[in-house]
Amino acid sequence: MIYLGIESSCDETAAALIEVVAGIPKILGHRVHSQNHTASGGVIPQVAAREHLLHLPKVMESLFKEAGIQPQDLGGIGVTAGPGLIGGLLVGVMWAKGLALSLSKPLWPVHHLEAHALMVRMEVPVAFPYLLLLLSGGHCMLTLVHDVQRYELLGQTRDDAAGECLDKVARALGGPYPGGVYIEERARHGNPQAVNLPIPFEHAAHCDFSFSGLKTACLQWIQKHPNLTDSQDFCASFQKVIADSLSERVAHALRQTSLLRCVLSGGVAANAYFRQRLQETCAKYGAKLYAPPPAYCTDNGLMIAWTTYELHRKGIAPCTDFQVRPQWPLPH
Ligand code: AMP
Ligand code: MG
Repeated sequence: MIYLGIESSCDETAAALIEVVAGIPKILGHRVHSQNHTASGGVIPQVAAREHLLHLPKVMESLFKEAGIQPQDLGGIGVTAGPGLIGGLLVGVMWAKGLALSLSKPLWPVHHLEAHALMVRMEVPVAFPYLLLLLSGGHCMLTLVHDVQRYELLGQTRDDAAGECLDKVARALGGPYPGGVYIEERARHGNPQAVNLPIPFEHAAHCDFSFSGLKTACLQWIQKHPNLTDSQDFCASFQKVIADSLSERVAHALRQTSLLRCVLSGGVAANAYFRQRLQETCAKYGAKLYAPPPAYCTDNGLMIAWTTYELHRKGIAPCTDFQVRPQWPLPH
């Protein structure tokens, strides 16, 4: 059966086609158009919505051409219905509803964070339950994944997400958006011990995060060093402190749950240093870290197509009568 997944919740206009035979997925096509925010320094919701409107038709056309199939060949359609920016969500959902109704195909509203949570299973069949560290531009949470549509929140950020912190600090350094990629590149040849920065919630016995204090400390450090010509040491130190904080929280969650499987996902999970550090932390507890390939960590259509398959497999009924949900907690 062939599944189409459409994603437009933030600043990626993406769609993908997968064929699943006996639980084994095959990628038929995969298209992502990423918006460029170098001029504005971040996502402007109205601009993002207009860009989705402009690019979704092109993304869809090239996707079906790449896959060599017709819309009539689809078995099911999935679309991100939330959480996200309302304008972008509406563009994707209206397109998906139009397609589903005109072709009489089943449609599933997909939870964007659930898609990040399940994406890893497309490549490796990680068994439930597992611990999930979800790190995207707007979310930072530790969750227990019991099953499809069954999540238990262990902790989340009390202020900024790690991705947001990376983006803001990179911007203060004059780097482009998204900041995480820039920081990772600059950090590669820097000394992580060079700059002393505070580790958020160091030694705390809970699973919550906080990154706004670290962000402020970084912005103040940058202000005090206006003639900085080489930010490599600073970036390495900053990246290390984020990894220290993430590792401590994951260690706490592993001790609390005794789980031996941990999944890292979301855009920030593309970072090789974070993957390495968290893999070492998991190994200390005899646990294994899983993460989607870096290219599938940031928003994409494959995660929506795969989650559509997971919902279908689980017997969740399709429906065309649903609203977009800009705010949507993970289902318990
Ligand atoms: P998402 O919201 O899942 O699309 O993820 C976007 C976030 O991922 C942004 O905050 C980016 O800065 C961050 N990001 C993307 N690539 C990397 C990377 N290689 N290292 C760290 N953060 C990254
Ligand atoms: Mg995302």
